[in-house]
Amino acid sequence: MRHQLITGAKRVVLKIGSSLVASRDLGLRHDLIARLSRDIAELKTQQREIVLVSSGAIVAGIEKLGLKTYPQTIPLKQAAAAAGQSHLIHAYEKCFQETGQKVAQILLTHQDLTDRKRFLNARHTLTTLIELDVIPIINENDTVSVEEIRFGDNDTLAGQVAHLVDADLFVILSDVNGLYTEDPRQNPQAKLIPVVEEITPDIEQRAGTSRSEESRGGMVTKIQAAKDVGQFGVPTLIMNGETPDLLTQIFAGEGQGTLFLPQDRRLPSRKHWIAFTLRPKGQLVLDDGAVEALRHRGKSLLPSGILNIRGEFSSGDPVSCVDANGKEFAKGLVNLSSQSLEKIKGRKTKEVQEILGGKEYEEIIHRDNLVIL
Ligand code: GLU
Repeated sequence: MRHQLITGAKRVVLKIGSSLVASRDLGLRHDLIARLSRDIAELKTQQREIVLVSSGAIVAGIEKLGLKTYPQTIPLKQAAAAAGQSHLIHAYEKCFQETGQKVAQILLTHQDLTDRKRFLNARHTLTTLIELDVIPIINENDTVSVEEIRFGDNDTLAGQVAHLVDADLFVILSDVNGLYTEDPRQNPQAKLIPVVEEITPDIEQRAGTSRSEESRGGMVTKIQAAKDVGQFGVPTLIMNGETPDLLTQIFAGEGQGTLFLPQDRRLPSRKHWIAFTLRPKGQLVLDDGAVEALRHRGKSLLPSGILNIRGEFSSGDPVSCVDANGKEFAKGLVNLSSQSLEKIKGRKTKEVQEILGGKEYEEIIHRDNLVIL
């Protein structure tokens, strides 16, 4: 299974972590970028389509601007990202040029993907670049990303890209070998897990909470990204990018790393987008009858099953559905604003027209816009 999923993958999204391409003191790691570029160009010659997501702009910017410490304020981080990004892309451009491979730069914010039209537009651009035999190199557009519109870390961004381009395989290159049975820094007996069949709470717990200032992610965001893309049928491989030749070995069916198998159920792209790209603006607390009807009977959500409404949202916004205990079990696009919903929660559909006047939607969330998690 592992062998087939990796060696047979045609379209591959590769995420390269900050620590691989840059260090705070020395700036860009030109040797490593050169080696990875050669290995990736080699994968291209095996008829694979490659999309890169590379971090490292901020760290490269720290050295370029001569900053003494990791920038703490947002403007300083953004300034470092702007200075570092041009440096980073220049290094890739140069290294790939030596292999005869063309590259292109794409900078994205989370907001670019939350609008369905812009999402599809980004998809067209990326697939066109792939058809033109170019390797797109993506990073978050850190210079304009404020909290509300940012991905926050490149594991999440890269997972979204794997969905965007409908990848066969998502590879996260970092400075760890993969997922271990225990924290290998604390227990030398810890063993690398070659295949994770399902991301259970136990697996999530093994990921611990390790993270550094430089790599915004850590194992937790990697596993979350693997979980999200797994719902779209995409397997994720976490491997060490520091190890020479490992990338080539892995694509030849050897070598280490942890492969996370995808779910059998593959969500359609639009549903995946509703569940994993959009961020809920509010929450609907539903009674047991509504939970049952949504989860097991394929129904749309009606006003009578709503116990409570949390947050403020408008018609068309994404919301999360939770049961009476607060456990999230679905996400969807809501047809009415939080204000209107307050007036009709718990009411029969017949009463709704009287209360709201005019012709409103019967369903609060239509089945087509609802994803059971
Ligand atoms: N976009 C950030 C950068 O290029 C990296 C974010 C991350 O490490 O996840 O510096």
